[in-house]
Amino acid sequence: SSRWGRVMEILKELEEKCGTPIWKLRQVADAMAVEMHAGLASDGGSKLKMIISYVDNLPTGDEKGLFYALDLGGTNFRVLRVLLGGKEDRVVRQESEEVSIPPHLMTGSSDALFDFIAAALAKFVATEGEGLHISPGRQRELGFTFSFPVRQTSISSGTLIKWTKGFSIQDAVGQDVVGELTKAIERVGLDMRVAALVNDTIGTLAGGRYYNQDVIAAVILGTGTNAAYVERAHAIPKWQGLLPKSGEMVINTEWGNFRSSHLPLTEYDQSLDVESLNPGEQIFEKMISGMYLGEIVRRVLLRMAEEADLFGDTVPPKLKIPFILRTPVMSAIHHDSSSDLRVVGTKLKDIFEISNTSLSLRRVIVEVCDVVATRGARLSAAGIVGILKKLGRDTVRNGEKQNSVVALDGGLYEHYTKFSKCMEGTVKELLGEAVSENFVITHSNDGSGIGAALLAASHSQYL
Ligand code: ADP
Ligand code: MG
Repeated sequence: SSRWGRVMEILKELEEKCGTPIWKLRQVADAMAVEMHAGLASDGGSKLKMIISYVDNLPTGDEKGLFYALDLGGTNFRVLRVLLGGKEDRVVRQESEEVSIPPHLMTGSSDALFDFIAAALAKFVATEGEGLHISPGRQRELGFTFSFPVRQTSISSGTLIKWTKGFSIQDAVGQDVVGELTKAIERVGLDMRVAALVNDTIGTLAGGRYYNQDVIAAVILGTGTNAAYVERAHAIPKWQGLLPKSGEMVINTEWGNFRSSHLPLTEYDQSLDVESLNPGEQIFEKMISGMYLGEIVRRVLLRMAEEADLFGDTVPPKLKIPFILRTPVMSAIHHDSSSDLRVVGTKLKDIFEISNTSLSLRRVIVEVCDVVATRGARLSAAGIVGILKKLGRDTVRNGEKQNSVVALDGGLYEHYTKFSKCMEGTVKELLGEAVSENFVITHSNDGSGIGAALLAASHSQYL
């Protein structure tokens, strides 16, 4: 029927607009490297904030003692303690707990959020078991992973620039988040010092480096997306302080805010952005990360329903609800390998209350997921290659072999297999065979939590 013809037209248009041929990805990678330069030259010089982290020494393996970490940056936050045993013994013990954040606290007041966090932390500290006690007379120390854009003012302080990923707590913007956390820790009567403030990318970089000294960058693909990497200190014109002894400085790119005329933006991205909590911001993140992929798919399906009667004469009401299609569900649809696409059918029924879907309709839905995920994965790959370009590691120099390892983490990377495989394949495609031989992506499982604890250890007041 002509109905079906119109569906196919919309699908074809989507495929064209989301196209990421290799030449376009090279433009994106180049633009990323250019923006990185600009962001390092001056504050405000680029959409990329290129935040100086004050981490100029990454873990070596020698760290020892009991340390805590707190990881806040998505719908869940985690508390963690590790017992570090030094070079030989490494992580002797590790315990963690995950707590979900009640939605009303994500848009409430700063005190309410931090009181909730401090209370959970105190409860966790109370469960310290045999062999997991701090030496008498010592204060517990914590690495705080806070994965929102922060203007870092020292290794253990920084002011919140803005919220992302659905958080919006106005009275916290411009505040020192360590100060906010410390006050809440005091309010619950806990004796603990925040020794390091990092974000998940820097934590992941630290955790990755702890196990593999060739790790030079970390990328998070989770609810949001971000990247951090190790820069030569003399290549940071905006750095006014003394050059660190190591000659290196970890930079938090905040690449989620990257945008470029080379990005393949569609009408769906534009309307998603306009209706978001942070219009005009985090454009790269909105094309790539777990918070948004499912929502982009929903918008495509809604248009197909409205303009081409994809689901019959009426538009299923549930299809109109923003963010009702979450990325894990999109992933389940995309990975459905049954011959009758049973999972797709079930999800359509469960999420949208759409029943009796034909096989060809289910196929269209899988195809939409594929287009949106492939674009996100290939753009992430271009971002990684942009970082390698900035470091001069995207080519083999005079036959010199230089290993580059990038640590990846995040729920999207971990669980959305088609996305990760596509991303990894595209990096290789962009780098070519010769460079790819010395390039490795590792999954830094839980690196950000351990990384923060490691950085608390290396910035302990008792060293
Ligand atoms: P955060 O980024 O919030 O710190 P995670 O790194 O655990 O947390 O990532 C969680 C995100 O990962 C979810 O918001 C979701 O978008 C994505 N995700 C989780 N599970 C899956 C899955 N099975 N398939 C696709 N995406 C997933
Ligand atoms: Mg995380």
